[in-house]
Amino acid sequence: MSEANTPPVLILLGPPGAGKGTQARILEERFGLVQLSTGDLLRGAVAAGTEAGKKAKAVMEAGELVSDEIVLAVLHDRLAEPDVGKGVILDGFPRTTGQAEALDTMLADTGQKINAAISLEVEDEAMVERVSGRYTCANCGEGYHDTFKKPEVDGVCDKCGGTEFKRRADDNAETVRSRLSAYHEQTAPLIDFYKSRGQLKEVDAMGEIDAISDALAGIVEKVQA
Ligand code: AMP
Repeated sequence: MSEANTPPVLILLGPPGAGKGTQARILEERFGLVQLSTGDLLRGAVAAGTEAGKKAKAVMEAGELVSDEIVLAVLHDRLAEPDVGKGVILDGFPRTTGQAEALDTMLADTGQKINAAISLEVEDEAMVERVSGRYTCANCGEGYHDTFKKPEVDGVCDKCGGTEFKRRADDNAETVRSRLSAYHEQTAPLIDFYKSRGQLKEVDAMGEIDAISDALAGIVEKVQA
């Protein structure tokens, strides 16, 4: 078990397209951890038309970062749900130093600590193509790509047999460029932040999905040992 027998807390860092969501889903299945994606929580708030969602919508469409206040509020609510007791993989959070500091405080309240911040190392130039071509099954959320990962049977999800697919409004070439800038300006400094605390693990994320998830699994196993 991890730090003082508390459930593990892992952070996935990396630009849009690095594979944070894909890898978080794999770790969720493999280790029973819970994927917490602030992007998913915010998209949920937008779809539900909550106050937070109304404020976040235009910011997300522009590929900029939603305010710490809104993000922390949606995350705080999610962390209050019982399933997170199994341990969490934070996907897309923290994205600013303010969020990283707020996370430390939230975890300290429950006697928890970050076990590892994993940086998925990728080349920016490849990210625009990766993100622009991606889509997911509307039923189970399995991810696909126009070029790199098509369903085995055209139009049918390999995993659940669903036939409806969706694309994110912000997964277009122009917005991806803004999201990459936001990443480099506001989020990349967190790599040094976690490195200086001895919590950073760097993983080459340009290769095959399976090889990357094996590397991540090795990190999770050490954390859980
Ligand atoms: P993602 O699904 O992680 O790519 O996030 C999609 C969009 O949601 C981002 O481009 C931001 O506009 C917003 N977002 C998600 N997580 C955060 C966060 N931790 N801080 C600020 N904005 C966020």
